[in-house]
Amino acid sequence: MTQTSLEGSFGCPADLDVPQNPSGFSRFGFGPELLKALEAIGYQEPSPIQSAAIPELMLGRDLVGQAQTGTGKTAAFALPMLAALDPDQRKPQVLVLAPTRELAMQVAEAFNSYAVHLDGVRTLAIYGGADFRDQIHHLRRGVQIVVGTPGRVMDHMRQGTLDLSALRALVLDEADEMLRMGFIDDVEWVLEQLPTQRQVVLFSATMPTEIRRISQKYLNSPAEITIRPKAADSGRIRQRYLTVNGPQKIAALERVLEAERSEATIIFARTKAITLTVAESLEQHGYDVAVLNGDVPQAQRERTIDRLRKGQVDVLVATDVAARGLDVERISLVINYDVPFDSEAYVHRIGRTGRAGRSGEAILFLTPRERRFLGGLERAVGRPIEPMEVPSNATINQNRLDRLRSRLTTAAGASSCQPEERALLSEMVQRVAQELDCSGEALALAALELVLAGKPLLLQGEESFAMPRQASMGERSSAARNTRGERPMQARALEADMERFRIELGWRDRIKPGNIVGAIANETGLAGKAIGRIQIFDTHSTVDLPQGMPPDVFEGLRQLRVLNKPLQISRLQG
Ligand code: AMP
Repeated sequence: MTQTSLEGSFGCPADLDVPQNPSGFSRFGFGPELLKALEAIGYQEPSPIQSAAIPELMLGRDLVGQAQTGTGKTAAFALPMLAALDPDQRKPQVLVLAPTRELAMQVAEAFNSYAVHLDGVRTLAIYGGADFRDQIHHLRRGVQIVVGTPGRVMDHMRQGTLDLSALRALVLDEADEMLRMGFIDDVEWVLEQLPTQRQVVLFSATMPTEIRRISQKYLNSPAEITIRPKAADSGRIRQRYLTVNGPQKIAALERVLEAERSEATIIFARTKAITLTVAESLEQHGYDVAVLNGDVPQAQRERTIDRLRKGQVDVLVATDVAARGLDVERISLVINYDVPFDSEAYVHRIGRTGRAGRSGEAILFLTPRERRFLGGLERAVGRPIEPMEVPSNATINQNRLDRLRSRLTTAAGASSCQPEERALLSEMVQRVAQELDCSGEALALAALELVLAGKPLLLQGEESFAMPRQASMGERSSAARNTRGERPMQARALEADMERFRIELGWRDRIKPGNIVGAIANETGLAGKAIGRIQIFDTHSTVDLPQGMPPDVFEGLRQLRVLNKPLQISRLQG
């Protein structure tokens, strides 16, 4: 079965009394309460995983689903569980284990939103870091659905505060994540304690051997559903990478943030310490930034996510673990400031954007040494990740001008002042114009300068982020490496009797020395070994050729195309 994109339609008119048109969900045999709730949320048609999983789960079968966040898997298990629930039984009937508190909260919220018309149905999220007594209090009052992280669920079970004697179903959500985070023993322990008559559902984005083993051991002839990596979903996310040296990363990040017009951005860093350094540096440059890492207390994390959701903060710097499962529709840009640990982490990270049918952008920072990971990541997402340049001064400046202009247009179009304030301002403008005997335009300019608040309008700093990526043909010997075995980063001197040419194709066009040698040898008839050093830089390359090339041969070279792009060869002076 293949996955197509989820075209979630939100904001439908909510006639809570009678669903006007029977939705695609009515075929599952859900009661009117669930259908009303789905109609109000705006789910019209089931997603592929829902179409495949719901009928199986309604029959009470165990199920293994290979699907990622964003496919609608939460509703795929939550709806049939709710449909089978007995509201009069106050003991937990459904237990969902999730790897992180954020995911646990989201799943609990989803249950709540679907169960809004089911009287007496209660859901509780239990996770570490939150008040234990409070959770016990809620458990005692009676809940039918518990969504929790494995450790805290285990604690409650051991203490006898979570009674699973009436449990009908267990869901393992993002099982591979629980394995990655070292929870798998806890998960097995929980599985061992459950009543023998129960339904088990396991969802995982990937199926490592260990997860397969669990599913074989604890699930009973499960239905198996695979939603392939989300070609359509990840297709909504434009993925690019840029190559930048470690020390230049922060400057490159600031440029990317300025140049990309994003509603909200999440920046992934490898460690807690890096999240802080990045956030501090961005703050110094006037960004309103929030940090999400394992040191941030739970209450504050929830506040931060809420602020992000409401648009009170636009940039979040996070570690993988802290941001797992984060579902905020406003996030339109994901920056992989540090390369992810593996391709699964990459897929999870970029999945923070492109939510709910929106499109998104993902930018991956790679140091020259990390470029070797690119192929693996491209394979994981099933498509090429496009190269991009660190935004130039010109791009950034154009953006700044555009933004200022659009602010000015908006302000001129609709005043946000009270009429009496506006009258005072108008009087002030007239008085200053009279006093200084200057034009309205001169005053408007002065007002715009005030808006800039002393910050230069145009960026004029160093913008050279380019660097050679690969040693030349003439540098194949180990002598070309320095004492640390690294490739030299400086352009190399020209040998005698050779002339240097520039080609407008570089590392970012994926050009290799072999492509250049092949093309030139073909066109000029030069033997491969007569072609000298080739140096590949970010956006261009150089090639050294014997001096005295006849003009007609040079003209032929100028017409050449390599990798389907024009070579645009030119002589380098000096
Ligand atoms: P999930 O994969 O469960 O995290 O769901 C991803 C997003 O899709 C969530 O925002 C859901 O509310 C939304 N969603 C799930 N099922 C549907 C549906 N059938 N129609 C529209 N949106 C949906």
